[in-house]
Amino acid sequence: MSAIVSHREQKAVPPTSMIEARRDFPIFEQLIRGKELVYLDSGATTQKPRAVLEAMDRYYEQQNANIHRGNYFLSLEATAAFEQAREKVARFLNVKDTRAILFTRGTTESINLVASSLSRYLLKRGDEIIISTMEHHSNIVPWQLACEQYGAILKVIPINDAGELLMDEYEKLLSPRTRIVAVTHLSNALGTINNIATITKMAHAVGAVVLVDGAQWVAHHVTDLPALDVDFYAFSGHKLYGPTGIGVLYGKRQLLEKMPPYQGGGDMIKRVTFEKTTYADLPNKFEAGTPNIAGAIGLGAAIDYINHLGLSKVAQHEETLFKYMERRLLEVPGLRIVGTAAHKSGAVSFLLDQPAIAAYDVGLRLDIDGIAVRTGHHCCEPLMDRFGIGATIRATLGVYNRASDVDALVDSLQTLRKERAAQPAVSRPAALNLANDEPAYTQAFAETPEAAAEQFIDEFSFLDDWADRYQYIIDLGNKLPAFPENERTDVNRVHGCQSTVFLSARKRPGTLDTLDFLADSDADIVRGLIAILQRLFTGQKASSILAFDIEAFLEKIGLDKNLAMTRRNGLVSMIKRIKGLAQAIENTCVGCEKC
Ligand code: PMP
Repeated sequence: MSAIVSHREQKAVPPTSMIEARRDFPIFEQLIRGKELVYLDSGATTQKPRAVLEAMDRYYEQQNANIHRGNYFLSLEATAAFEQAREKVARFLNVKDTRAILFTRGTTESINLVASSLSRYLLKRGDEIIISTMEHHSNIVPWQLACEQYGAILKVIPINDAGELLMDEYEKLLSPRTRIVAVTHLSNALGTINNIATITKMAHAVGAVVLVDGAQWVAHHVTDLPALDVDFYAFSGHKLYGPTGIGVLYGKRQLLEKMPPYQGGGDMIKRVTFEKTTYADLPNKFEAGTPNIAGAIGLGAAIDYINHLGLSKVAQHEETLFKYMERRLLEVPGLRIVGTAAHKSGAVSFLLDQPAIAAYDVGLRLDIDGIAVRTGHHCCEPLMDRFGIGATIRATLGVYNRASDVDALVDSLQTLRKERAAQPAVSRPAALNLANDEPAYTQAFAETPEAAAEQFIDEFSFLDDWADRYQYIIDLGNKLPAFPENERTDVNRVHGCQSTVFLSARKRPGTLDTLDFLADSDADIVRGLIAILQRLFTGQKASSILAFDIEAFLEKIGLDKNLAMTRRNGLVSMIKRIKGLAQAIENTCVGCEKC
């Protein structure tokens, strides 16, 4: 029998026990792009149940006052609600000591707090910090900053091709110089589950302190911190069905007590004089200023909600759905799953290899079908480098997901493949001029960038919805001249685009200040954006390129609304590069007065 079970056989398998949970989430009551929302991006943030929204409304409508400081009814009520939320978090993590639970803005701030404050207390020149290849940037950069400041050395646990930590290598990295080990519980990009109890035991054996990034774990599995024995544990409320802007740092009391404050301000002090300040007891010492009171209350409500569903039932539901998703995705020909660890959960990263369709293009096409997935490097650039890729498509699960969401994803991917197969082969204009073997720079499309922009605005005004505009941009990209192979160099690489982009330019021969440029990307949509930039700028005077208001133009054609921030940043990186090149030309002809 085939390892891939047929679609129909599988349909009977997924669970029904969580189906009702979906009704608790108002977001699913609307249509997205005219279709029922298929939300497969809970790894980025979960949707919020009504109970959480109501708890936050209730706070603002009936309890709003600042906490800890007022001796009146509302302030006492608000303080009690805030501190109750802390108790709920403690119970949720099986932590007895409520003072060991600190509220932060999220995982990122929790890790920064430790990297900043613990390092100040602990790190000396030559000390070592161990992280892993699969860390999120928020569990990399704070440690790099600490290393820079204290002269410590960052060591990285390598992974195998399945995306599992190489524990033998980890053992080799550990030494009496190891001060901190910071690893993720569950990889947001691969779905790999790490064996935290073992990692911690090994770190403790050399006297190191362990921080675990639990951002992707807590909403999906039971968390028993005493059993894991970690020293610090960080997570975000918004990935646990709670609001944004609230997170948690658990820390062992004996460490938190020794660590200096992270931020100074109100509520974190015992006594302030101009000569000396003494600090409040835990947890206030680490909670300077007015905290996100509504956020903490919302997080408490989210924990109540998840407890009401039963975390082990949630885990079971997601496990079954996860296996179903992996199996069904593998039915799509040419689909490759990135990250095949033996212990995985929640996230499936994949690529479409044959035919190769860039992750961006897949994400955009899925969006047109109302399917929300994440594409890009998932804030794990070193991990992407390890796999030699720039991005993946990632589907992640929550309690509200159903087998039909997975089916919709797979159907849409199959449709995309069929559309590709039906598309006539694109033959782009040649990369080089036959006459002189030089890159095939095109002529200017209009007298000025403004005139080219007017043409675009006119053409776009005939395209009503995003799907038509998207197709129009893709078609433009297909007409972009091919990019010469020998120009695909590091110097010409534009970073920050999340797809592979090369851009080469020159001052047009025989002119004083005219810019020619060529660019290319592996993503169709980015190629389309390059085509737009080329129409605007190639063959134009450097001074008019510099003067052109690109933001206003993007707004006029409505691109600012439909481009995700990351892709927008990519576009901005390309524009910056073009403007930088224009500036260089401008600088060389300053004062010549000929143009
Ligand atoms: N770590 C991991 C594993 C994550 O998935 C994320 C969020 N994508 C973070 C850290 C950062 O979380 P936040 O942005 O909520 O601070």
